[in-house]
Amino acid sequence: MNILVINCGSSSLKFQLINSESEQCIAKGLCERIGIDGSKIVYTPAGGEKEVTVTPMADHTDAIRLVLEALTNEKTGVVKNLEEIGAIGHRMVHGGEKFSGSVVITDEVIAAVEECNDLAPLHNPANLIGVNACKKLMPNTPMVGVFDTAFHQTMPEEAYMYGIPYEYYQKYKIRRYGFHGTSHSYVSKRAAEVLGEKYEDLKIIVCHLGNGASVSAVKNGKCVDTSMGLTPLEGLIMGTRSGDIDPAIIEFIAHKENKSIDEVMAILNKKSGVLGLSDNLSSDFRDLEDGLADGNENAIRAMKTYCYRVAKYIGAYTAAMNGVDVICFTAGVGENGPIVRTMVCEYLGYLGIKLDEEANQKRGKDLEITVPGCATKVMVIPTNEELAIARETARLAK
Ligand code: AMP
Repeated sequence: MNILVINCGSSSLKFQLINSESEQCIAKGLCERIGIDGSKIVYTPAGGEKEVTVTPMADHTDAIRLVLEALTNEKTGVVKNLEEIGAIGHRMVHGGEKFSGSVVITDEVIAAVEECNDLAPLHNPANLIGVNACKKLMPNTPMVGVFDTAFHQTMPEEAYMYGIPYEYYQKYKIRRYGFHGTSHSYVSKRAAEVLGEKYEDLKIIVCHLGNGASVSAVKNGKCVDTSMGLTPLEGLIMGTRSGDIDPAIIEFIAHKENKSIDEVMAILNKKSGVLGLSDNLSSDFRDLEDGLADGNENAIRAMKTYCYRVAKYIGAYTAAMNGVDVICFTAGVGENGPIVRTMVCEYLGYLGIKLDEEANQKRGKDLEITVPGCATKVMVIPTNEELAIARETARLAK
């Protein structure tokens, strides 16, 4: 069955068509600047040329119509007609406590996701716009929602509660949820598969280090803790997000700089992280690595603080699981950044970790980067959230 995987943002939409039997991506692309001047669709059929078409897109329904036209185009399309698309899988950001797994999308599911909108005001409404647009254009095609938060719903109460009045949990469901769940689930399972070990027998720490970044502790096949919280701002230092800070800093900056809470939150989300720490050098680790090589003190500060925070979370999750068998690095920085991996692993001698320098330089495949015989193994596992969504969609659509 061909599965159309859709990841809908407020003004963008990424898509992949994946065959669920061969697990191959048949075509992929993205629509940018939806509803804004200069919108364009980028489309790449597998093995073919990338096509960029600048064309107006008033809304997400327009964007999805263009995606379907590209996929069925006589010359460059990859399917004859829409009947060859068996199901649609949607990446959904926040499922609150309502969704601990993927679901077939019904009107009741849409209503339940709407109830979580407060928890993810930027993401959930955009996801639902994508769902409704697909419903309009392909009313008879089954749709499945795969939630970023679902994998973390197995966290125990002591891991997900904040030390604030309990009534806020009761009234508003303020608690830790975690994100990137599809990636943490895919990577931890894949690590067990590559090692030829039973997933249920392992203690795994996954470091998803992309522009957004989070760590999770997966014990015997279940997530027991993760570093993002009520929102994706908590935890690691990220590209532009602060991660953990003393909450009193918000009031302090607001007073000193005469800013509103919204303005301070925008600073914590968009101007902080390694971008802020490097005094605006860059949020991109390629630039920071270049800076580090040149001895730039802003780059050194950002890289050191970033890696120290990752190492600290690894220590915390080793304690939470009473040990760790495998540490996985994934996503943009985790997969491509041998320097970050080296700097993090320098803190992990107490786990018996010694990196294989040659393996650590390789890119783009599942690979063990510790020397043989280490008590704890370190691996690089490229994440594939689209494939994980396609698998879930095929399973439920059947
Ligand atoms: P993601 O959010 O997973 O797409 O990750 C994006 C981030 O990965 C970028 O902002 C870069 O910081 C980082 N990245 C991508 N390619 C490389 C590379 N070759 N070396 C180091 N970092 C990289």
